[in-house]
Amino acid sequence: MRDRLIIADALEGTVRIRAARTTDLVENARKAHNAQPTSCAALGRVLTIDAIMASEMKDESAKTVVTINGDGPAGTIVAQADGAGNVRGFIGDPSLYIFNHETGKLDVGAAVGHSGTLSVSKDLGLKEPFTGMVNLYSGEIGEDFTYYFALSEQTPSMVAVGVLVDTDCSVRAAGGMVVQLLPDAPEETIAFVESIQQRMKPVSSYIDEGYSPEEIIHELFPDARILGERELRWHCSCSKEGFAAALSLIQEKDLEEMIAEDHQAQITCQYCGKTYVFNEEELKEILEKHRHVEDRKRFPA
Ligand SMILES: [Zn+2]
Repeated sequence: MRDRLIIADALEGTVRIRAARTTDLVENARKAHNAQPTSCAALGRVLTIDAIMASEMKDESAKTVVTINGDGPAGTIVAQADGAGNVRGFIGDPSLYIFNHETGKLDVGAAVGHSGTLSVSKDLGLKEPFTGMVNLYSGEIGEDFTYYFALSEQTPSMVAVGVLVDTDCSVRAAGGMVVQLLPDAPEETIAFVESIQQRMKPVSSYIDEGYSPEEIIHELFPDARILGERELRWHCSCSKEGFAAALSLIQEKDLEEMIAEDHQAQITCQYCGKTYVFNEEELKEILEKHRHVEDRKRFPA
């Protein structure tokens, strides 16, 4: 089975449902960052919800960026997903393994922290991106997004998200589901969605049992109509050209210093951990281009 996202409606069109399997992309994120179980679960939950949010994007290159700044040891968590199903992200401290012995689960809330902020920036093709920010509710991610959807987007929602980490620390199952009430949803719809919240298993359990996203939706909403689907994947768009362009923006004297002292530059992509090396020759080329641009600024044609 592959990572996929399904969009559906149900209860006579009064709820919109988006469910995703994200096992492979979260496993790839774990490998890219060498993330330990609790960091992996925290990052995986954020990546999953971001992938679900980005599925609203009509434009394939439009991006949704989620930034979580909690007061826990995990530090900043960033996820970026686009309208084509590409997802990438990172966590400040990938080395956390915090276990809650009372619940028998990984303690994501303790890693993220119980206070701080969750912000979302959506590129909707308008001049300015849409941005929304709320305070963290519990740091467990699912509840925080429920709170975000209610406060920032005025959409009552049920959010379920989970990452099941195996005994060898690899990702065994990951997925999420967001159920949103459409405006004027009747009382019966609200009661039905609340009953699902009470009786449904953790979403990662369904994925682990082999349920596809549409099977999860049909299990919980027998009258659901599938409206669309898309593939999801871990993908970082970084490139050597991209970092060369970034290097050409730094101060000329800093570039000169780099060449004279280090004879090279190493840049590591924050999102995927890939390292790019620029040798002396390449740095001189960037410096030349930089000077050329500066001259053009001084003597505009
Ligand atoms: Zn990268």
